[in-house]
Amino acid sequence: MSNKYDAIVIGAGIIGACVGFELAKRGKRVLNVDKLAASGMGSTSGSCAIIRLHYSTPDGVAMAREGYYYWLDWSKYLGAVDPTGMVKYINTGCLVFKTEKNNYLNNVKSSLDALHVVYEELDTDGIKKLIPIVNTQQYGPPTLPSDLRFGQPTGGAIAGALYIPESGLISDPKQSVHNVQVAGENIGGEYLFKAEVVEILKKDGRCAGVKLSNGTEIETPIVVNVAGPHSYRINEMAGVIDDMNIKTRPLKQEVCHVPAPEGFDYNTLGTIISDSDIGCYSRPEVGNNILIGSEDPDCDTLEYVEDPDNYNTNFTQQWNTQVMRVAQRIKDMRIPNQTSGVVDLYDASDDWIPIYDKSKLPGYYMAVGTSGNQYKNAPVVGVLMAELIEACENGHDHDKDPIKLTMHYTKRECNIGFFSRLREINPDSSFSVIG
Ligand SMILES: Cc1cc2nc3c(=O)[nH]c(=O)nc-3n(C[C@H](O)[C@H](O)[C@H](O)COP(=O)(O)OP(=O)(O)OC[C@H]3O[C@@H](n4cnc5c(N)ncnc54)[C@H](O)[C@@H]3O)c2cc1C
Repeated sequence: MSNKYDAIVIGAGIIGACVGFELAKRGKRVLNVDKLAASGMGSTSGSCAIIRLHYSTPDGVAMAREGYYYWLDWSKYLGAVDPTGMVKYINTGCLVFKTEKNNYLNNVKSSLDALHVVYEELDTDGIKKLIPIVNTQQYGPPTLPSDLRFGQPTGGAIAGALYIPESGLISDPKQSVHNVQVAGENIGGEYLFKAEVVEILKKDGRCAGVKLSNGTEIETPIVVNVAGPHSYRINEMAGVIDDMNIKTRPLKQEVCHVPAPEGFDYNTLGTIISDSDIGCYSRPEVGNNILIGSEDPDCDTLEYVEDPDNYNTNFTQQWNTQVMRVAQRIKDMRIPNQTSGVVDLYDASDDWIPIYDKSKLPGYYMAVGTSGNQYKNAPVVGVLMAELIEACENGHDHDKDPIKLTMHYTKRECNIGFFSRLREINPDSSFSVIG
């Protein structure tokens, strides 16, 4: 390892690896530094790795659409084969229930239409035909199990759903980062593990390098903060937070794994389900299991974490709440006595939309606040950040005149200013993991 690079990326999760890869493609000597022992061991390893296209804004759909094509074309994008195995995109389709909370998907439909994403509108018969084990009774708005209303119908059937056939998941999120690492290393990118950044070095009013916990200093004119749930800490070190209108915080999440109803092959016949009527999303999980995550309904108390290195990593009552919620929807779903699944952290932004931006410190950039929904977009974020960094380093004032990127597959223009740290809170956001 040298002690001088063109760029240092703090973090070797899926987004950090894709940023490093794109910078290496543009001829930069780039080093990804991570305090953990290998790539993908941060929050990416806990990701549900769902690749879905429905977002509530056309910009959200556009990014997801673009990202989807990268995952379909994974080997072509990487231009390399990882000898330890390449991940696969598994198409499952996605069923999204219409509720008052999501404005009966009217914004989502117009956003999908804008990007020519195919979907079907299903009534309750259509939903049952697609997945016969789904109960179409309305129970929402979601409540806590301690509420007497929990589990009681709140009207007739749910208002219908959208089915988006082009949606699925990635077989192994941690391995997907290794795939990108191999591709990056093939073209000169470097990785340093077990190396914790403790200081952002500055010289002549700009960023000049990083200092590691063992005292090593590495010089570079460009530092990119892609530290996931630790992002706010790195921003604090850089002294750039007072300039940011949107901030980031680590938020605890519990993901449950439960057996699918006996006799139903969920891995083959199940789909991703986004169900704001009960406040959960779910997807098929290996071993004929159902994976359940929370859509963080209003009745739940969000568990923001002060210290991402020291928080309660056990399952809590929240695990039971999520499982009981989905048991309302899936007929004959058994509730196991043993908890199983994943506990991890989102890097949540104030409006659940990420920050892909420069900062007030020249040479210091950030791809943070990914709010539980940016795994799918990682390859696009790599390109977007490389473009942003190149333009800013060439003197462009991105804050005054936001850079626009013509996306590779969709040919749509992405205004990178949409992700600015200086934006006002976006009122069109779902203010949840849905983005
Ligand atoms: C439970 C869960 C489910 C999710 N499900 C989905 C989903 O289905 N679909 C979707 O699109 N997105 C999903 N997401 C979001 C997605 O996984 C994340 O947005 C993405 O993985 C973030 O990648 P990253 O590279 O930014 O961060 P990370 O993977 O967290 O990587 C950050 C890295 O920075 C390192 N680091 C931190 N501080 C330092 C330091 N001081 N020095 C050196 N290294 C440091 C960490 O060790 C870590 O490896 C989910 C997230 C979670 C937690």
